[in-house]
Amino acid sequence: MTRLLVATTNPHKIREIRELLADAPVTLLGLADVPSVPEPEETGTTFEANARLKARYYDRLLPPPGFTVAEDSGLVIDAMDGAPGVYSARFLRPDASYPERFAEIARQLAAHPTRPRTARYVAALAVTHRGEIVYETTGVVEGEIAAAPSGAGGFGYDPIFYYPPYARTLADVSEAEKLRVAHRGVAFRALAGWLKTATAS
Ligand code: IMP
Repeated sequence: MTRLLVATTNPHKIREIRELLADAPVTLLGLADVPSVPEPEETGTTFEANARLKARYYDRLLPPPGFTVAEDSGLVIDAMDGAPGVYSARFLRPDASYPERFAEIARQLAAHPTRPRTARYVAALAVTHRGEIVYETTGVVEGEIAAAPSGAGGFGYDPIFYYPPYARTLADVSEAEKLRVAHRGVAFRALAGWLKTATAS
């Protein structure tokens, strides 16, 4: 079966991606299955640019003819002019805790009480084959910043990401409920559909 290298070091993402690609016609490999290299610097200013940069970087580790998929994602808050955006993993300080980040977001939103609390998660995927980008897609889920953190599920910003159709944060729902609607679910389901055609011949 065709091999697909999932080029991410984030254990939460790997868990979600394995679930989302469970039925895809590929053998999944992780970075632990290929020679170890330092992580690339994410110098892009968009999710798409960082996904492409990571896919091209890790592609060389997989002997042909497999595919490599890289993902870049983050939280975009309208009232903060799109921050933390591509800097979501490094927001405030690279080693800041999520409760510290939630407090900083609450402080910034409190400074502009009339601005909307709308936000979205974005996940951009880029797939390479023999060094070339062969597929790209982006998944988005629209939500709001909760008045206070809630829930112990998910990871990262999920306790403050309120999803109106569920009337709960994404940390307050099951993993299956999150994957059904969230950005990574949207993007990796599109990838699974594409892989069916790409691996059929
Ligand atoms: P990346 O690994 O450079 O793409 O950074 C992604 C960062 O965005 C994560 O470390 C989280 O801070 C945030 N993020 C992305 N997806 C999610 C999610 O599903 N829930 C919560 N936070 C997320």
